[in-house]
Amino acid sequence: MYKIQSSKLLKDVMGNYFRGMGNSNKKMAWCTSVGPAELIRSFGFEVHFPENHGALLGATRTANDFIPEAAKLGYSNDICSYLTADVGSFLKKETPMNEHYGLTGAPKPDLIVYSTNQCREVQDWFTYFARELNVPVIGITPPRHLDEVSGEVIADVAAQYKNMIPACEKTSGNKFDIDKFRETLKLSKEATDLWKKVLFTAKAKPAPISFFDAAIHMGPIVVLRGTQIAKSYYEKLLGELEGNLDQKIGFLENEKCRIYWDGMPIWGKLRPLSDLFIQNNAAIVASTYCNSWVFDAFDEKNPFESSAKAYTEIFINRSEKAKEKILTGMINDFEIDGIIFHDAKTCFNNSNARFGMPQRLKESTGVQTLIIEGDLCDLRFYSEGQSITKIETFIEQIEGAKISAA
Ligand code: SF4
Repeated sequence: MYKIQSSKLLKDVMGNYFRGMGNSNKKMAWCTSVGPAELIRSFGFEVHFPENHGALLGATRTANDFIPEAAKLGYSNDICSYLTADVGSFLKKETPMNEHYGLTGAPKPDLIVYSTNQCREVQDWFTYFARELNVPVIGITPPRHLDEVSGEVIADVAAQYKNMIPACEKTSGNKFDIDKFRETLKLSKEATDLWKKVLFTAKAKPAPISFFDAAIHMGPIVVLRGTQIAKSYYEKLLGELEGNLDQKIGFLENEKCRIYWDGMPIWGKLRPLSDLFIQNNAAIVASTYCNSWVFDAFDEKNPFESSAKAYTEIFINRSEKAKEKILTGMINDFEIDGIIFHDAKTCFNNSNARFGMPQRLKESTGVQTLIIEGDLCDLRFYSEGQSITKIETFIEQIEGAKISAA
């Protein structure tokens, strides 16, 4: 059975990150997953990412133990289940980080930082913690749903970055140092370039990494970008995958079709879904989600402007037109036969099937499309039996279409 050997190192890297947070005497900041991590790190903060904890609650299938606690406070079951699971875990004072890393919860922050480049939910979520913990909260609110990211937008967001400096200085106790910011951004750029190369190894046939593997191996680019640790990890992973490319070893020997996954992972079902596709010789080779941590624009020579551009031009923050253009590029690059749109009940921000995109892409590119209803964490919204039937029928449909076209 195909196995990525770097997984052992990944486990150590992530374990050290979590345990290190628990033992650290550094100041602590909480940050959104595509928030200004590099700027914050340049002040010497240790950084915790609540969405990463949300994903852990989903992956360990504990989210549904916690979501009802948040509902008691009035947080609807229909809003982001990362938010409701994380808030519920905080209220119940329980977390799987305890069993895995000896942490009874995320260490208390000195500063909370969000960016609404991904959604407004993070503002409500992080403001809740700021109130509960009596901690300052600051945020960036970039213009949303953009066709293009103009110079004006970049200037606006770069100014918002600069406005955060006084709060960062006050809570960290350190003066802003542009060289530290440049250095952190450079490390982040090197890591994100490596991460992109890792993901793009899957252009090969057979592909050496699947979406399901990538959803696990993305840990360091989310929580450790801006550090040498993330960079070193992706050098190692890329080396392994390139070795597999040379030997033509892939996770699926006989790829009958190549599929793109759009939208959030269904964290509690990664393994059974991975097995299902493999059993059907269908390779999920690329995804919107894992690509969300590819930041081409980072440039330490212009740290504020390039951060503003990189974090504003992310897929989730773009118009339907821009998203379709990006997806069309991915379809071509990865020779995609079909796209699965995961329509996540509690994250409309990262669900792209609700305004006719599957139909338009099918018409413009000829790829087959499928919509699966589910959720990132809340498994009450996912029907396993129904989804398996839909997926197997979809794979047959793709194969049928390929035969007719041949
Ligand atoms: S993008 Fe979706 S999953 Fe992520 S924090 Fe926002 S609502 Fe939650």
